[in-house]
Amino acid sequence: MSPSKKIILSGARPTGRLHLGNYTGALENWVALQKDYRCYFMVADWHVLTTDYEHTAEIPPNTREMVTDWISAGLDPETSTIFVQSHVREHAELYLLLAMLVTTARLERNPTLKEQVRDLEMDQGEGVSYGHLGYPVLQAADILIYRAHVVPVGEDQLPHIEITRELARKFNRLYGDVFPVPEGKLTRFARFPGLDGRRMSKSLGNTIELADSPEVIQTKIKTAFTDPQRKRRSDPGRPEVCLIYTYWQKFRPERAPEIYEGCTTAKLGCVDCKRMVGEAIAEFLAPLRDKRRELESTPGAVDEVIRDGDEKARSAARSTMDAVRERMHVG
Ligand code: SF4
Repeated sequence: MSPSKKIILSGARPTGRLHLGNYTGALENWVALQKDYRCYFMVADWHVLTTDYEHTAEIPPNTREMVTDWISAGLDPETSTIFVQSHVREHAELYLLLAMLVTTARLERNPTLKEQVRDLEMDQGEGVSYGHLGYPVLQAADILIYRAHVVPVGEDQLPHIEITRELARKFNRLYGDVFPVPEGKLTRFARFPGLDGRRMSKSLGNTIELADSPEVIQTKIKTAFTDPQRKRRSDPGRPEVCLIYTYWQKFRPERAPEIYEGCTTAKLGCVDCKRMVGEAIAEFLAPLRDKRRELESTPGAVDEVIRDGDEKARSAARSTMDAVRERMHVG
C-alpha cells in the first residue's frame, strides 16, 4: 500500500451471498477504486444490530459468504484491508466519544432514518433504539478511525456523510486536527433492476447471485419481466422499458444496438433474447465462480484474509485512538 494514496473506507452489512445489484451498486466500483486509493473494506456487523438485533446467528456465515464474493469479484487482500468491524473494538470507543459531540435533535432530523422508519413501518418515538438513532455516529467512527478522505456512497447515504463531516470539523476545532474531513463519492450505477423490475434485493426474492450456476441463471431469467405491451411474438418491443435490455447494456454493451434493432423490429423474440442474455451474464460471472471455487477448496482461506485484515485495521485504528485520547485528555 502506498502511503501517498488517499484513503477510502467503505463497508456493507453481512448479508451472505451477493447478487448483481450488490455488484453493480458497490462492489464493481470498489474493485476499480483499489488502483487509486488505499482501501479499507469493512464487514459492518455491528450495523446489523441497529435494526436486526434479535437475529445474530447468521452473522458469521453471512460474513464468510460475503467476503468470499468480495475476493471472487476482485478485491485484493494484498493491497486492500478487508476486515470485520466488531473485531476492531476501537470503533466502539471512538463512537462513544463522538456521540458526545452530536445532539439527538440532529440525529432525529436525519432523512435516512426517517425513510427507514417508514420502510420498516416503525414508530420513530417508540420503535427506534438508541443504537439505531446513533447509527450515523457509529458510521462516522468507522470512517474517521481510518482517517479516510473519501467514502463511496449511494445517494441515500449522503446525509450520513454530512454528519461525519460535521463531527470531524467539530472534533478538530475543539481538540486539534486529527481527522481529514471526508468527501462522499457518489457511485454511478446505484439502482439495478431485479427480475421483477423492482430494485434487485434479497428480501424481494428477485435476484441473480454472483455464485449462481449458468443453469440457475437460465431458470431465473425465464421468470424475468419484459415489455408488458409485447403480447405476441410479432409485436415490436420497447427495449427502453425492458429490464432484459438493461442487462444487455450492462453485461454486453457491444451487443445492445443489435438487440435494440431486433426487438423493435420484432425480428428477435423475448424467449431467445432472455436465453442469450442469461448466457451473457453466466459468461460475465464465470471468472468470479472460478475464483469462488478456488477459495472454497482451500479451507480457512477466507478466514485468514479476514484475520490479516483485522490486524492491519487494528493497527491503524490504534494509532488514531492514541491521537484522539491525547487530544481529548481522556484514556
Ligand atoms: S426482445 Fe429482449 S429487449 Fe425486447 S422486450 Fe423482449 S426481452 Fe426485452
